[in-house]
Amino acid sequence: VFVFSHPSHNLTLGNQANYERMIKMAQNYYQKEIETMPIEEMKKLQSEKLVKQVKHVYENVPYYKNLMDEKGVKPDDIKSIDDIHKLPFLTKADLRDAYPYGLLAKPLDDCVRIQSTSGTTGRRVVAFYTQNDVDLWEDCCARAIVAAGGTKKDVCQVAYGYGLFTGGPGLNGGSHKVGCLTLPMSSGNTERQIQFMTDLSATILCCTPSYAAYIAETLKEQGYKPEDISLKAGIFGAEPWTEEMRRGIEESLGIKAYDIYGLTETTGPGVSFECSEQTGMHVNEDHFYAEIIDPDTGEVLPEGSKGELVFTSLDKEAFPLLRYRTRDICVLSRKKCSCGRTLIKMAKPMGRTDDMLIIRGVNVFPSQIETVLLNEGYQPNYQIIVDRVNNNDTFEVNVEMSPEQFTDKVSDVLKMEKVLANAMKIMLGINPTVHLVAPKTIARSEGKAVRVIDKRNLI
Ligand code: ADP
Ligand code: ZN
Repeated sequence: VFVFSHPSHNLTLGNQANYERMIKMAQNYYQKEIETMPIEEMKKLQSEKLVKQVKHVYENVPYYKNLMDEKGVKPDDIKSIDDIHKLPFLTKADLRDAYPYGLLAKPLDDCVRIQSTSGTTGRRVVAFYTQNDVDLWEDCCARAIVAAGGTKKDVCQVAYGYGLFTGGPGLNGGSHKVGCLTLPMSSGNTERQIQFMTDLSATILCCTPSYAAYIAETLKEQGYKPEDISLKAGIFGAEPWTEEMRRGIEESLGIKAYDIYGLTETTGPGVSFECSEQTGMHVNEDHFYAEIIDPDTGEVLPEGSKGELVFTSLDKEAFPLLRYRTRDICVLSRKKCSCGRTLIKMAKPMGRTDDMLIIRGVNVFPSQIETVLLNEGYQPNYQIIVDRVNNNDTFEVNVEMSPEQFTDKVSDVLKMEKVLANAMKIMLGINPTVHLVAPKTIARSEGKAVRVIDKRNLI
């Protein structure tokens, strides 16, 4: 029996019947047996897979064998999933060290694909896939699409970038598996996105949340109302976004917006996905085992603690990372979910350990600034600029006014800037200099948004 709670805010609904159909379909599963497996059975499955995987990696990846030997762990020491803490961690630095083939666990002849990270925080890394790896990845994305109400009746517009970036290829594959009519748009060319969205009556949109907000803004400018388009669900991820931003997108497009998470190192999007409850993302833990650790000591923290998310791919063949430190800050929960899935849930990661800015000794996450902006009635179009002048950090936030907010009366602008700066001071504990800028002057993103310009590192 499912208990479905409707979103607390009012949606402006277009085709009501279609919306309700998708809400109802969101109670389906793509791989029911796995998605609703009793926890004890899941543990058994994970244990079997881990024992096999550790042997595979030890025998085929000299880089990881060295790490295990250094730690004094042998494959025989790993008898169940409870022994996972004995294994050494892998970090992004290891991936860069081992670039390109150092962590490959299968002959290149058995690999059919590479993908690469976006390079948001440094040099890109490459990941390899066998056909089985591609299949399990696409299954994970299919689970996400079905959890959002997708069926073969849907038209799924994939506006994540295609190519080395995993967003486009992952959701494209998932959409095929579900049997949706897939529109492989890739990101960018917003006019064409809107033309296909309207001409072909797309019902599901997949892209980054910042691009979804941009598409919504452009639709509005062109005079479209939510009821003029057929979209009913969105699957948005690849970057952090706030609840406030979710509400904004849901209202402006008349859809339910679902979060999806993943990283190239583990496969790509679909490592975890949101269900109708919208209170965190179910981890596809038959493929990816999640742990939360203290980022300073490496100690595993109990369920419910906040810390760094670590993933082990339990059955990937070509690039099976064991205990990979994602640097994403997150919380795991086994709380029972109303959707019926038993898969463990992870909270929305609200930043990475390396996203966090330390300004005048205070920890600042861009997501905190975004929360303030949306609470104060601004759109999430902003840029943070940090610099160091005479050994002091400067902290500026440029915020765009919407056309409705726009005024060129200096005293009004100053007043608005003061109100915003105060709200940020309350949230962060330090004072930013806020500059309100004219509508459409901050560059829009078709992929992951660039929110921070830290000039202190450029010296
Ligand atoms: P890069 O590390 O270069 O950005 P990827 O494109 O593989 O490479 O991005 C993976 C990262 O994107 C994750 O580690 C996480 O920080 C971020 N991410 C992905 N999905 C989400 C999401 N739904 N919410 C927050 N952050 C996300
Ligand atoms: Zn659920």
